Amino acid sequence: MSDEEVSAHADPASCTQLPWRPEVAWFASDLWCEGKPFEACSRNILNRQRAAAADLGLAFNLGIEAEFFVLKDGPDGPAFATDRAPLAKACYDGYRGLDNLDVIGDLVRAMQGLGWGVYSFDHEDANSQFEIDFSYAECRTMADRFVFLRMMAHEIAREHGLFATFMPKPFVNQTGSGAHFNMSMADIETGKNLFEAEEDPRGCDLSELGYHFTAGLLRHLPAIMAVVAPTVNSYKRLVKQGQMSQFTWAPVFVCYGNNNRTNALRIPLGGGRVELRAADSSCNPYLGAAMVLAAGLEGIRDKADPGEPQRENMYLKSQAELDAMGIKELPHTLGEALEAFKSDPLSRQVFGDAMYESWLAYKEDEWLGYLNHVSDWERDRYLKMY
Ligand code: GLU
Ligand code: MG
Repeated sequence: MSDEEVSAHADPASCTQLPWRPEVAWFASDLWCEGKPFEACSRNILNRQRAAAADLGLAFNLGIEAEFFVLKDGPDGPAFATDRAPLAKACYDGYRGLDNLDVIGDLVRAMQGLGWGVYSFDHEDANSQFEIDFSYAECRTMADRFVFLRMMAHEIAREHGLFATFMPKPFVNQTGSGAHFNMSMADIETGKNLFEAEEDPRGCDLSELGYHFTAGLLRHLPAIMAVVAPTVNSYKRLVKQGQMSQFTWAPVFVCYGNNNRTNALRIPLGGGRVELRAADSSCNPYLGAAMVLAAGLEGIRDKADPGEPQRENMYLKSQAELDAMGIKELPHTLGEALEAFKSDPLSRQVFGDAMYESWLAYKEDEWLGYLNHVSDWERDRYLKMY
């Protein structure tokens, strides 16, 4: 009741002129309270892990792949932003890409104007789903950009009479939207990427440091999930196929591997980075980056070994094969992820007491709210059955 107020200390380096409203500037800020950085501020939480990395002479670089839908409000709810018939698989579809080139073009031009280095954009697997990829950056800069990107996508879509959504799985029969984290550690002095390998006996072009980092992430992945896939809806995306005609390419197992997309942690072709495919855009990127960085640093300090990379399609493995390999499934629900978050000491260590307690209470309330609600699925199944 009489708590001191927090104040936002704007970071001048983050100053961004809104491309769609140039008279306004946006700043990412650190929260302060009682004359010092506020422990529970998510940007400060990431700052603490950045400092831990700096103690080892390391900087954490991050690229986040932005997948999202652009939709319109229709009489029967959200509708695809095209008058063409939906496709079973709309990936790279030229016609539907052109239908939305005005809005995606505006967004890409705005990102280019900010100097973010967009290097690709495309129509994704689902109808009205798009992906924009842009240059990686130091992790805090990337988190600032990702938060800004979500706002900018909403605003620019709105100017076109549409709306953008970063909800992980808006439609049961379409692929979901991930926010794959592409991660590498650099020498803090020279900027050299230390995940690049001179030679790699495991054949993924990843350095020993990269493998240690990966092992740390595998060790803590269930708890990390609660943070990088933090909504009820996140877990609807993390299925092999569900009600879709084809695979989702979203991960379901705690495993890492080479370039194949069925691993939660993938080392893309060319190596030099590790991709966490389990993350989605409903996450707070500061908290997500802080968790993966803390887990990776632990792996580095312990010189942990992740074992041999998986090289085959994990979706096709039988339960017996998975058991023999000791591979577990990722949490299936937000509830399971929160249990994992609670049972892993890393969570409190990264979040700090105040944020740990309040974030967990907020998320447990969200999970309970979902469990207690009565859905259409239940009415469809039971209303006339009993
Ligand atoms: N949309 C997929 C996901 O949910 C990923 C597709 C891709 O590999 O780009 O993660
Ligand atoms: Mg994609």
